Parts: sequence; structure tokens; C-alpha cells
Amino acid sequence: MTVRTRFAPSPTGFLHLGGARTALYSWAFARHHGGTFILRIEDTDLERSTPEAVQAIIDGMQWLGLQHDEGPFYQMQRMDRYREVVQQMLAAGTAYYCYSSPDEVEAMRERFRAAGEKPRYDGTWRPEPGKTLPPVPADRKPVVRFKNPLDGEVSWNDLVKGPITISNKELDDLVIARPDGTPTYNFCVAVDDWDMRITHVLRGDDHVNNTPRQINILRAIGATLPEYGHLPMILGADGEKLSKRHGAVSVMEYPAQGFLPEAMLNYLARLGWSHGDDEIFSMEQFCAWFDLSNMSRSAAQFNNEKLAWLNNHYIKQADNARLAELARPQMLAQGAVFENAPELAAVLGLMKERVQTINELADAAMLFYRTPQAPAELLAQHLTVAVKPALAAFAERCASVEWSKEALSAALKEVLAAHGLKMPQLAMPLRLLLTGQLQTPAIDAVLVLFGRATVLARMQAGL
Ligand code: GLU
Repeated sequence: MTVRTRFAPSPTGFLHLGGARTALYSWAFARHHGGTFILRIEDTDLERSTPEAVQAIIDGMQWLGLQHDEGPFYQMQRMDRYREVVQQMLAAGTAYYCYSSPDEVEAMRERFRAAGEKPRYDGTWRPEPGKTLPPVPADRKPVVRFKNPLDGEVSWNDLVKGPITISNKELDDLVIARPDGTPTYNFCVAVDDWDMRITHVLRGDDHVNNTPRQINILRAIGATLPEYGHLPMILGADGEKLSKRHGAVSVMEYPAQGFLPEAMLNYLARLGWSHGDDEIFSMEQFCAWFDLSNMSRSAAQFNNEKLAWLNNHYIKQADNARLAELARPQMLAQGAVFENAPELAAVLGLMKERVQTINELADAAMLFYRTPQAPAELLAQHLTVAVKPALAAFAERCASVEWSKEALSAALKEVLAAHGLKMPQLAMPLRLLLTGQLQTPAIDAVLVLFGRATVLARMQAGL
């Protein structure tokens, strides 16, 4: 058996974190087995589906690198196929026309409710051997209902939740086609999973109630059943359902905030699954490990600090040239001037240790790319009469010293010793003159990056 999984989002908004985790697990499980991962867009809700939402899903998956092998398939393009299966089911007697009006159905449901029973359709139009159906009302378009088994139960061994059993008595004769012939949600999903030969359905546990209905339909059309795994939902740190209140819930807000996709993937992978104590792992490792064992049965809590911690880890690991490409546009937007300035990749390499996001990194790196404007009171405080001669001496050394960290560091120490000063007394005014601020990386590294010409020009301008 070749494993075939699918991600089947409804394009009604953005790709949210729960959806991204479902996509990641379906993708990784297919990869683990050398199988096929399919993207299916469930766009039959015409009022809520938009092309922008389809694009947002595709963008989100592309950012994460969750490449699908087949699709995207659009349900709206498969209407003929659904109609065909409805006709086949009518012919086979596993579905039937129902002429009860919406008001009549509501009255039936009300009667059941009044009798203390589960509200449902009463089977008026359900054909049974020896039963005479009512006369077909004129001018009324029927719906098509699925002939759900009356007795017995539906059971499956959920890949995440374990064995689940639902009595058929709980299940109604589901409408599978509306009066205008359009098919309904659970029916489309069942036909698609059958046609696409899906072997494993991984999805959010808000779909658990749909599963017995889909299984009954699949059985009725003679399909091989996939296995089902329902993932517990993602909660905010306060235990409430994850929502905007907890921060970004759309995946594409994360690149905008300066998160790397590998941090997000690593984080989502651990949100509902574990591999011993491993917290940091690559997607190659995840695909090798992810066999649906060690799935968590309880809801996961989203933790922004942990995601930020992972992001810091992956920023430190990242190639500096890649960081430069990510940071450059936002630095330009802040007015950065890159001509006659230190190489951005080298600057970011120096500054990436402590930042949690690319945005923080870009902000921090700005000090190398704007004209320094030290506040007058700071200059007055640090650029004192006692310090100026030492600065002048250092400027002189800078004119000829070998331009390396070691040589500059040695020159600084010599000047300090000659003038009886301590390191901060020289380093602070130097920082101010070079960058306009007191917080910078180590002064020798800053000097090396700016280069001789800029260092000399800025020191002379300040002295
Ligand atoms: N379209 C459904 C959703 O976005 C998922 C259906 C499924 O995975 O079976 O929630």
C-alpha cells in the first residue's frame, strides 16, 4: 500500500496555525512512508470561499516548504463527479429522493425534541421493502438523502484518540444533494477521499462528528476506508481556544514578524507530538521519526516564548547572507544607506546571537547604516577634556595600524595605558562618535566593520 494523505482546507480566511500543523503532519507522514501528499481546496461554501484565501493557503504552505505532490484539486471543479455518484447511489438504493419541505422537516425535529429524543428526519420518504411512499408533491424539488443504516454502529480505531464507536441511531439520513442538485459537505469529502485513494486522513478533532457519516457513505459506495486520526486543538497559553487575543493566528503573520519557517515547523511539529526529549530537530529528522506514534491526546498550548527561543536558535544557525536578504528590505524602509557601509551579512553575523526575530536583528543592525547623531548630553558626558587627547592619539594610530581586530585591540590598550584610562572611558565616546549610541557590539568588532576611512572621518568630525 502506498500512503496517500491530504490537506483539505476550506478557503474562508487565512492559513491558521492549526491548519498548518495538520498540513505538516499529513505531509510528514507521507514523506515518512515515501507516499503522496495531496492538496485539496474545499471551496463549496460559495459565500465564504475567496480566491484570496486560496492564495493565502498556498503562500503559507510555500513559506513552510510543505510541497504537495498532487493538486491543488478544487471541489467546485468536481461537481459533475459528485452528481454522478449521487445518481449511482440513487440507482443502487443507498440514497433516495426526499420531498419533505424544510418546514415539515423542522416539525419532525420538533416532535422528536418534544418526546425527549434526538431531533432527526423521520424517514417519511425512506424506501423500505413493502412500504408505500407518499404521492410526490407537485412543483417541489426533492433533496437526496443518504440511506444511513438503522442499526449497528460505526467504529474506527482513531490514530490519535484510540477506538471510537458511534451508534447508527445517532446518525440521521443525511442530505447529500440539495434541491438544486448541489452536493453537501460530508458527501463531497467522502467522494474525494475515495477518488483520491486517501489512505490516512489527519485532521482537527472538530471533524470527529463527521467521521461516522463519512464512513457510512464510503461503505455504501464500496470504497476502501482510510484510517482516521483526529488532532486535538491548539489552545492559547491561558487554556482558551487559540484566537487573535493570543497574538498572531495566521501563519503568514510570522514571516512578517521576522520568524524563520524552520522555527515555525519545528515548533508546530512538537505541538501535539514528541520524540523523547528532542526539542530541536530538522524536518529530515521529523519525517524520519513521524510514524503517528507518540501523538498527544490532549490539547496543545501555544507558547510564544518557546517559538521565540526556537527562532533565536535557527537565526544563530542561519547563513548570514540569507539573514541579510531577509533584513535588507525592512532596513531600507527605515532609511538604511548601504553604500560605503559595512557588509550587511558580516554585521548580522556579529549581532544575531541575542535576537529573537529578524525584525529585531534588522533594528539592531541599523546603527551601522545611518548617520550617527549622538545626543548632546551624552557627548558632553563621555567626550570629556580628560578623554579627548586619548581619542586623538587613537585616531592617529588608526591612520596606520593594521586593520584587524587584534591590532586595533592592541592599539586601544596601548593608548589607554599611555593616558591612564580604563576601557569604557575610550570605548563609550568611540561608540558615540561612530554610531550615535552607547549600545553596540564589542568596540574592536565595530571598528573593523566600519573600516578605516569611516572610523577616521567620524572621529575627526567629533573631535
Ligand atoms: N475543509 C475542512 C476544514 O477546513 C477539513 C476537512 C477534512 O480534513 O476532512 O476544516
